[in-house]
Amino acid sequence: MEDCHKCRLRENCIHPVWGSGTGKIMFIGEALGETEDVMGIPFVGRSGKLLRNAVGDDNYFTNAVKCRPPGNRKPLDDEIEACFPHLKEEIDNIKPKIIIFIGKTAYSLYDRLLKLYPEIHYEFFYHPSYALRTGTAEQWSEEIGSRIKELKKINFL
Ligand code: URA
Repeated sequence: MEDCHKCRLRENCIHPVWGSGTGKIMFIGEALGETEDVMGIPFVGRSGKLLRNAVGDDNYFTNAVKCRPPGNRKPLDDEIEACFPHLKEEIDNIKPKIIIFIGKTAYSLYDRLLKLYPEIHYEFFYHPSYALRTGTAEQWSEEIGSRIKELKKINFL
C-alpha cells in the first residue's frame, strides 16, 4: 500500500496507515487525522482516544481511507472507492464478526459490505469528533461503551 497511487491522497500524506488491533470487532472510521498520520496508527488523536477509552484497546481499528486527506477534509467518493480494495483485504484477513461504522462516511459503505459479507453484524455510531463538538462526549462514550460490552458478552468475544 506504501506505493498506492490510486487516488490523489497519497501525494500529501506521510504514509498510508493500515488498521491495527486485535479481536473480532472492527471499527471503521473516516480517515486519519494529523496525529494518526504522524504516528502511523488509527484512532490515536483526540477523538480516537475518546473512542478507545470508551470501547477498550482490544479491538481492531481502521478507516474507510488509509491516507490522510489534506487539511482534515472529508474523503471524496472517488477516494473512498479507490481505497475500497484495501478495506476489503483487511476484512478478508481479519474476518470480523462485527463491524461498527464510526460516522457517516464509514456508514456509506454499509450497503456494499452487507452484500459482500452478509454474515457480519453491523452497527453505526456517531463520530467521536461530533460528540466532542456538540459537548456530548460523556453520553456518547457511555452509550458506545455499554453497547460494545453487551455485544462482546452476547457474542462470546
Ligand atoms: N482517527 C481515525 O483514525 N479515524 C477517524 O475517523 C478519526 C480519527
